[in-house]
Amino acid sequence: VTVEPAARKASDGRAAGAVEDLGNYIDGSFRQPRNGRFLDDLNPATGEVIARLPDSDAADVAAAVEAAQRAFPGFAATTAQERSRLLLDVARGIEERAEHLAMLEARDTGKPLALARRLDIPRAIANFRFFAGAALHAASECHPTDSAALNYTLRRPLGVVALISPWNLPIYLLTWKVAPALATGNTCVAKPSELTPLTAGALAEICHDAGVPPGVFNLVHGLGPRAGAALTVHPDVRAISFTGGTATGAAIMGAAGPLFKKVSLELGGKNPNVLFDDADLETALDVSVQSAFMNQGQICLSGSRVFAERRIYDQVVEGLVARATRLKIGDPLDPATEFGSLISRDHAAKVSGYLTLAGAEGGKIECGGARPSGLASHLAGGAFLDPAVVTGLAPASRVMQEEIFGPVVTVTPFADEEEAIALANGTRFGLSATVWTNDLRRAHRVAARLEAGTVWVNTWLLRDLRVPFGGTKMSGIGREGGRDSLEFFTEPQNICIKL
Ligand code: NAD
Repeated sequence: VTVEPAARKASDGRAAGAVEDLGNYIDGSFRQPRNGRFLDDLNPATGEVIARLPDSDAADVAAAVEAAQRAFPGFAATTAQERSRLLLDVARGIEERAEHLAMLEARDTGKPLALARRLDIPRAIANFRFFAGAALHAASECHPTDSAALNYTLRRPLGVVALISPWNLPIYLLTWKVAPALATGNTCVAKPSELTPLTAGALAEICHDAGVPPGVFNLVHGLGPRAGAALTVHPDVRAISFTGGTATGAAIMGAAGPLFKKVSLELGGKNPNVLFDDADLETALDVSVQSAFMNQGQICLSGSRVFAERRIYDQVVEGLVARATRLKIGDPLDPATEFGSLISRDHAAKVSGYLTLAGAEGGKIECGGARPSGLASHLAGGAFLDPAVVTGLAPASRVMQEEIFGPVVTVTPFADEEEAIALANGTRFGLSATVWTNDLRRAHRVAARLEAGTVWVNTWLLRDLRVPFGGTKMSGIGREGGRDSLEFFTEPQNICIKL
C-alpha cells in the first residue's frame, strides 16, 4: 500500500511555495501535531527555513505509544523470516532513495554531501541488512542442571520501545536503533533530533512503502524536553535507547529510573588519540585530521585530544595544521566540499566560546577558529568555522576536559607510555581511544589499559557491526551492536523443567 505524496505530509493548506510541513507518522499515517504547532527546520549552511516540523507534546506521544501498543501482539507473533524480509525491504527502499536521502541529510545538518553519500546513507542500509541477518541467527541458551532439570532461556521482545537520536548522524544512528528493535519483534516510537527531522520523515515513508504494518514504526517529531521527555516517562514504554549528550542522558536516566525502564545510553566523548614516535606518522596524521574534523568535528568518536610523544610533537602539530588548513571548506552541496557547516549558529558560537576560553587558559591557537573567508554569498548566514588546532593547554583545563563537539583539537606532548595512558584516561568520559604505534606488544599493553569502550589501533572509525559499541564512565551505559542490541531489545525468560 502506498499513500499519495500529498497525504504524506500534514499540510495545513498554505500557499504553494511555502516550506513543507512534516507530519508525525503514527499508526501508519502522517498526522499534524494535535496542538497544531510547528517548529522551523533550518539549513545551517544558509540559515534558510527548509521545512516545519511538529512541535509535538504528550498527546501526540500518547497516540503513538497507543498505536505501538496495539500493534505489538501481532508484530511480536511474526516469524523471524517475516521480520528479516521486512528489514531487507526497508534496506532496499533506502538504497533506492540513497541520493535523495544524502541530499536531505546534507541540507539538514550542513555536512558535506560527499560524506552523507559515503558514510551516513550506506550505513543506514547496512544497519537494516545486518539486523535482517541477525534476526535469523538469534539463538538462546540452555543450562542443563545435571540430570535434575533443564533450564532454557527464551528471549521475548519487550513491547513498545522509545528510540531517541541526535542530530550529528541522523539516519545513521536512528536506523541503528530501529533495525534491531524491529528485528526482535518490538514496536517503536522514534524521536529524532528537532534540528534534523528530514531523513527520519523519509524513513517513515520508506517503512510505509516497504509494508511495515501500522503502529510498528511510529515517529514523533519535536523538542527534547517536551516530546522526548513525555516519551521517556510514558508508562507503556518498556525501554529507551538514547544517543545524545551526557547531560540529557542524566535527565533521561533520572526520569526513567523510578519507572524501572530498561535504558541504553550512548553519550558524549572526549576521545584521546595517542601517537607514539614509532608510528607510521604520515598515515597517523592523515587519519588524525579526519578523526578531529570529519563531520565538522561533530562525531561522538572524534579524536579531540591528540597526545604526541615528545620527539614527534612538533611534526604532529605542523602536520595537523597543514592538513587542517588544506581541507576544502564550503557549500555542503558541492561534491568537492570536505568540511561544511556546523549544526547551527548557536553551536558555532559555543565552539568559538571554547576557543576564547582556550586563550584565557593559556593555550595557543595554531590555526582556525575564525569564519572561513571566501564563502559564497548564499552561505553568508551559515554556521561556518575554520577547523582549529590548539596547543599549550594544561590537561585539567576546561577545553581539554569538556566535550566541545566541534572542529577543535588539542595537541599535548607526553614523555613515555605511562604518561600517555594517564593523560588519555584523565577525563570523565570513556567512549573511544586511538593508539598509533608499530610496536605490537605496546599496542596490546596500552589498549588494555585505556578506559574506553572502543580502542582503535592504527585506525579510526573502522566499525564492525557485530562488536559491542558503547562507552564507559560518563560516556554511557550499555552496549549496542550485534548480540548486545538483540539482548537489549529482548527480555530473557528462564524456563526450568524438572526432569
Ligand atoms: P542532545 O542530548 O541534546 O539530544 C539528543 C536527543 O535527545 C534529541 O532527539 C533531543 O531532542 C532529545 N532530548 C533532549 N532532551 C531530552 C529530554 N529531557 N528527554 C528526552 N529526550 C531529550 O544531543 P545532541 O546535541 O542532539 O547530540 C550531540 C551529543 O550526542 C554529543 O554529546 C555527542 O557526543 C552525543 N553522541 C553520542 C553518540 C554515541 O554513540 N555515544 C553518537 C552521536 C552523538
